[in-house]
Amino acid sequence: MRILLASSNEHKRHELSQLFPAHEILLPADLGLSFDCAEDGDTFLENARQKAFALYEKAKGLGIPVIADDSGLIVEALPGRLGVKTARFGAEDGGPQLSAHEKNMLLLSMLKGKPESERKAFFVCAIFVVVNEYNTYSAVESTSGRILESEVGEHGFGYDPVFYCDEGNSPMGLLSEEEKNLYSHRGKAARSIAKIFGN
Ligand code: IMP
Repeated sequence: MRILLASSNEHKRHELSQLFPAHEILLPADLGLSFDCAEDGDTFLENARQKAFALYEKAKGLGIPVIADDSGLIVEALPGRLGVKTARFGAEDGGPQLSAHEKNMLLLSMLKGKPESERKAFFVCAIFVVVNEYNTYSAVESTSGRILESEVGEHGFGYDPVFYCDEGNSPMGLLSEEEKNLYSHRGKAARSIAKIFGN
């Protein structure tokens, strides 16, 4: 089955392709569609729902289910920061977007000197699937850990290099793709939704 992903993030396509190996994950650009959607909801699930329906409206008639994910990092010592605004971290005032490395450096500097007990964090992922207006599915999952004191490893993307994954007993940046999918917020949410695609 072809499944249309409401994102332009190749890393997410890659991860979801591993998680749904029997299916082909398409990006809007693969179908000549442009896609951009405000992510202004108060929850990950609301944002995922907005993205999924926005793309579903554009791709209506193609008969392809749309999947959207909204994810982010929650750092207990930084309430009100990151969370649903994770992608805009460091640019909340409308300034230029920081690179993933710059965001990681900013996060590390904000937690500098804090003991392990004050570095608790977790990733959250909401997945929303629209098959049609009357047939939608969603899942929200998380994975817990802590923020490291420096970047470690080169696997994954985004905040992976600064995140220690409790379930994997390892910095996320050192986990193989298969290991990350086993423990990650996205892997867990994708597995709980996979049955609707028949795997
Ligand atoms: P969005 O879901 O595309 O809005 O992305 C939210 C933010 O969380 C982005 O800055 C991503 O880089 C980050 N993020 C989401 N999932 C992961 C992950 O699995 N590893 C590292 N960073 C992530």
